[in-house]
Amino acid sequence: MTTRRSELPVAIIGGGLAGLAAGLRLQELDVDFEIFESSDGPGGRVRSDQVGDYICDRGFQLVNLDYPDLARFYRPADFHRASKAIDVVIDSKVHRLGDPREKFSRFFSSLNPATGSPLEKFRFLKFIRGLKSQSNLTHRGHNDESFEEAMVALGIGSLYSRVIRPFAQGVFLERCDQVSAEMAYKLIQFFITGTPGLPIGGVSSLARNLAKDLPINFNTHVDEIGEGFLRFGKRKRRARKIILATDALAAKLLLGDAHIDSSLDSKIFDSMTMSTSTTWYHALDDADLDATLRIDGLGAGPVTNSIAISKLAPEYSPPGKTLISSTVIGSASENTSESSVRRHLASIWGMETGGWELIAKYVIKKSLPHHPPGKPINSYLALGERILVVGDHVSFPSQQGALESGVAAAEKIVETI
Ligand SMILES: Cc1cc2nc3c(=O)[nH]c(=O)nc-3n(C[C@H](O)[C@H](O)[C@H](O)COP(=O)(O)OP(=O)(O)OC[C@H]3O[C@@H](n4cnc5c(N)ncnc54)[C@H](O)[C@@H]3O)c2cc1C
Repeated sequence: MTTRRSELPVAIIGGGLAGLAAGLRLQELDVDFEIFESSDGPGGRVRSDQVGDYICDRGFQLVNLDYPDLARFYRPADFHRASKAIDVVIDSKVHRLGDPREKFSRFFSSLNPATGSPLEKFRFLKFIRGLKSQSNLTHRGHNDESFEEAMVALGIGSLYSRVIRPFAQGVFLERCDQVSAEMAYKLIQFFITGTPGLPIGGVSSLARNLAKDLPINFNTHVDEIGEGFLRFGKRKRRARKIILATDALAAKLLLGDAHIDSSLDSKIFDSMTMSTSTTWYHALDDADLDATLRIDGLGAGPVTNSIAISKLAPEYSPPGKTLISSTVIGSASENTSESSVRRHLASIWGMETGGWELIAKYVIKKSLPHHPPGKPINSYLALGERILVVGDHVSFPSQQGALESGVAAAEKIVETI
């Protein structure tokens, strides 16, 4: 499938969403390229496994069909749309909160002050409305603050601590006091208008669909890059332009040893770090649950969120079984004991979990790039004339961040090649 030439016009390192989007855009612009991907398939962090009779995504994630740079390449005929509500469990009671994206007034449907007073809910909806009307958020630079500080300033104390924080931590895969408010607002803007859900057959089917007509060299780990070349094992390929579309940590490794005249600003280089999360999959005999995401409003931990994923996507479990996906965030999540996860799940789901079968556990050491207050949101980073660095660590941590970064780099290259 790949053509062998002395010099490639463009080499893309990494076949995650950023690399795939760069390739798809270059293909539209009629520029030759090859993708070099170290693993055995496309998608990067957007992958699934068949585990016996179950489909397990490598970490719980939803796909938003309305991400603009996804919609340009991906319009599936069928899709599992996720519920636009969340269930907040407080003292064994389940409070369903409607999603303000669906209808603002639904957010008030739970008048129970356990999830925040009506005044707090009103303030939050006003804030959301304000965000919705801002088409483009301006970069706040030094005025940026943490998402937690911004929420506290809104005066929504218990709504924040019982609903917004536990929910948002599952999105950021990080504590809210560590995350830039500017970046968080951008993600919230996408959520407000989004269509979240799951592709049929697991998130991998999205990646396979994007990758199907692209020239990708799988199992090809790039060990070194330099001015106009890349090396994998003993092989060297020359490339006029390189799009470095790996995750933050892999990019840091390659750039640290790169044979190039220019280097990244040391502040950017040092900030290339990532969070850890762990997702557990358990199966039980088919239970009368629905597909609404559950969070613990009292933040008892260790579980950040849990969902009966096969109720959203029935093909994830065999008939007669229900598959539960539960995520724990933080670097310690790897060592969280299964018994403490089961104990917490028993309180979240209000049922005995001792008999649940453990299907899979994914420790994802490279979950999301850290995006602390003040970190800018770029499209790509240019290193000299030949190298463009892209990915969710350059833009913002999400599928859209990765995709738009890849597209922007492809468009830049076409101007100069
Ligand atoms: C658990 C979890 C849940 C998430 N939930 C959501 C969600 O609900 N919504 C959302 O929008 N986003 C979510 N995300 C984030 C989203 O998945 C990522 O932001 C996005 O997929 C990043 O894409 P990327 O192309 O920048 O990087 P990656 O997906 O990391 O791709 C980089 C690729 O580079 C390859 N590579 C690395 N080093 C080399 C090398 N030396 N040589 C060759 N190849 C190399 C890797 O194998 C990989 O395929 C979630 C992420 C995780 C982990």
